[in-house]
Amino acid sequence: MILIYSVIIVIAFTFFGMVVIENYRNIIIRNEEIRLFQTANIVADTYRTNMEDIILINTMVKSYGKQANARILILDSHKMVIVDSFNTYIDETIDNEEIRSALEGKSNSGTYILEGRNVLQLSVPIVNDVGGRKRVDGAVLISASLEEEFSDIKNLQNMLIKVSILSLSIALIFTIIAVNSLTKPLRSLNYAVEKLSSGELGYKVQKRESGEIGKLIDSFNEMSGKLKKIENNRKSFINSISHELKTPLTSIRALIDSLTIGESGIEVYKEYLEDIKEETIRMGQLVNYLLNSIKLEDINLDIKDEDLKDIVEDTVKLVRPYAEKNGVSIIINKIESVNIKCDRNKIKEVLMNLFDNAVKYRDPDKKQNYISVSIERNRKEAKLVMEDNGLGIKGDDMSDIFNRGFRVFDSCIRMDSDKEGYGIGLSIVKNIIEKHGWKISAESTYGIGSKFIIRIPM
Ligand code: ADP
Repeated sequence: MILIYSVIIVIAFTFFGMVVIENYRNIIIRNEEIRLFQTANIVADTYRTNMEDIILINTMVKSYGKQANARILILDSHKMVIVDSFNTYIDETIDNEEIRSALEGKSNSGTYILEGRNVLQLSVPIVNDVGGRKRVDGAVLISASLEEEFSDIKNLQNMLIKVSILSLSIALIFTIIAVNSLTKPLRSLNYAVEKLSSGELGYKVQKRESGEIGKLIDSFNEMSGKLKKIENNRKSFINSISHELKTPLTSIRALIDSLTIGESGIEVYKEYLEDIKEETIRMGQLVNYLLNSIKLEDINLDIKDEDLKDIVEDTVKLVRPYAEKNGVSIIINKIESVNIKCDRNKIKEVLMNLFDNAVKYRDPDKKQNYISVSIERNRKEAKLVMEDNGLGIKGDDMSDIFNRGFRVFDSCIRMDSDKEGYGIGLSIVKNIIEKHGWKISAESTYGIGSKFIIRIPM
């Protein structure tokens, strides 16, 4: 990237430098030409009017030559030198482009390199009026060195190169600083992604930027936090399942050990085998529970016309003894008949799960624990509300309670043996409700109680 920027800057500077120098060179040559053409015209005019006075002409040519810092020659129409400000070419014939065109009546100029020096050479014709006709009688040729001007150009060129190198260095330094500060948060994010993929879930990137990059960092940190939570839930889920399976296995092994050591009578064998059977039934139930939760996506609902009030009352009849045994009373509040289409057994399973949770997470510090159930309906929907005054759920955990495998990591909840679970109940509830095309939501205040609301569109 930086290389591309540098190449672009170098090309731009070189191009700009070349244009500036070329223009400067043209202007200098043009100015020199104008100055020398003026001198050549004056010499041609003076010669034309004083042709006979060769001494005057010689003096004039030398004086102008000195003034213009140039060599001035006057040639006749046969290209023979009549006057030379340097006196070396007198009576010699010179033939070049400028002389030929001057003798044809046209002024001309050109730049040459003669003996390694840059020279500007120009000519003007000496024109006389003979009987109303113009006649070219000779030419004035001026040649001047351009070395001084060209050394100015060289100086400018050197200065431009120095300025270019300095600007390029400054531009490069700024580019490197800009690129570095732009890519820094991206590099931190890349590092964090590597950390995450190497298993360090929950790794967070320090946010110093606002705007889009800041938002990206926020989303990344949120994702990383969620992944950690999911991983913790998964571990705890596997932990509790393994624990649940290990307990019956240990008792089965202990029972078999005692049977193989002693020589007990058939009655003892029968009793032990009965215990073993019970343990295997417990394990079977656990496995079924797991299978149900995992295969829930595949279930087919047995939809029939039902009365919601009837299903609620039926379920309450079943759970009331268990609730009351645990000191929780069930209050049926404002209940009315609502005809709905549903799978009766699955909805009963939902209600059982909600009642079971409300009993399980009751608050022992409260004088009276209760669960209140109500059914309300309007033209748009029917609302089944189940409210308890149990332990409540902390705000942070609310967004996860319907996720499979999530359990609240509260030490007081986990230590209590009758609050054992796998964090599956509410995920099953949500699944069944959504399979019916209904909605479930929860509200809770830690220490006050929880409320589960099922909305059935009418
Ligand atoms: P489990 O009960 O097996 O842990 P659930 O999916 O039924 O799993 O519930 C998830 C979590 O939500 C529970 O661990 C519990 O902390 C919390 N929870 C559910 N219902 C209630 C309730 N009525 N009162 C307080 N906490 C609840």
